[in-house]
Amino acid sequence: MKNDQIKDRSMLNEIVQPLTDWYRQNKRILPWRDQNNAYYTWVSEIMLQQTRVEAVKPYFQRFIGELPDVQALAECPEEKLMKLWEGLGYYNRVRNMQTAARTVVCEYEGVLPASYEELLSLKGIGNYTAGAIASIAYQIPVPAVDGNVLRVISRITEDRQDIMKQSVRRQIEENLLGIMPEETPGDFNQALMELGAVVCVPNGPARCEACPVSEYCLAYRHGTVEELPVKAPKKERILQNRTVLVIQDGEKTAIQKRPEKVFLPDYMSFRISWAILHGRKCWIR
Ligand code: SF4
Repeated sequence: MKNDQIKDRSMLNEIVQPLTDWYRQNKRILPWRDQNNAYYTWVSEIMLQQTRVEAVKPYFQRFIGELPDVQALAECPEEKLMKLWEGLGYYNRVRNMQTAARTVVCEYEGVLPASYEELLSLKGIGNYTAGAIASIAYQIPVPAVDGNVLRVISRITEDRQDIMKQSVRRQIEENLLGIMPEETPGDFNQALMELGAVVCVPNGPARCEACPVSEYCLAYRHGTVEELPVKAPKKERILQNRTVLVIQDGEKTAIQKRPEKVFLPDYMSFRISWAILHGRKCWIR
């Protein structure tokens, strides 16, 4: 292990207890929290990818009201599933969840496995989600590193490496793995996430005066909080001009669901327009 890593690890070790204590006293009450239900943790974590906590709450309640367990999710007709997800976007997330739910029903008798590696093997479950389910629902001492955690850790250790790099994420995961508390890994992981969500925030100034670990934070000590985390600039977006044909009648818009696995190359747009004009069935993109 490199010297830097040893230094980071011993520094991070210091934050475990104060951060966990702070979390227990200050955590927000959320419908999926403190339920000790791996399915609820899974559903909430998938919904929270790309969506804010406040927006997720009503979706989560409706989803588990209709589909209270893995079996119900596995058997849910596609149209109903899409309806329950409508508004959250990124529909692949829920499609993958259903595929994984079917695997869980077939191979694990409908109960999400209490193993990080087996969770990771399920469709749509990556390192973060596997870590969250394993630690929160099953108290397995593995890290769950999302954007919030990357920001918090890079500030505490004043790490100027690009957090968008996989190698940096892996290094942070390794460091956290080395300090996970055996008894309370779920609370510690949630404490890191909570700190990133409400104190060491991504937009606007961090609330360092309210931070339970400010005395250990190098960025706070050196006045470099606003410089961190370091993220390489995104590639510039390419803008293209395209002609789009939309058929509307009053408030109605003609639209047809694209069949699965149909790839429509751009050069066909002219042929589509032609087909619409001649009253044929077609897709609107
Ligand atoms: S002291 Fe400030 S920058 Fe450091 S972890 Fe706390 S909130 Fe974040």
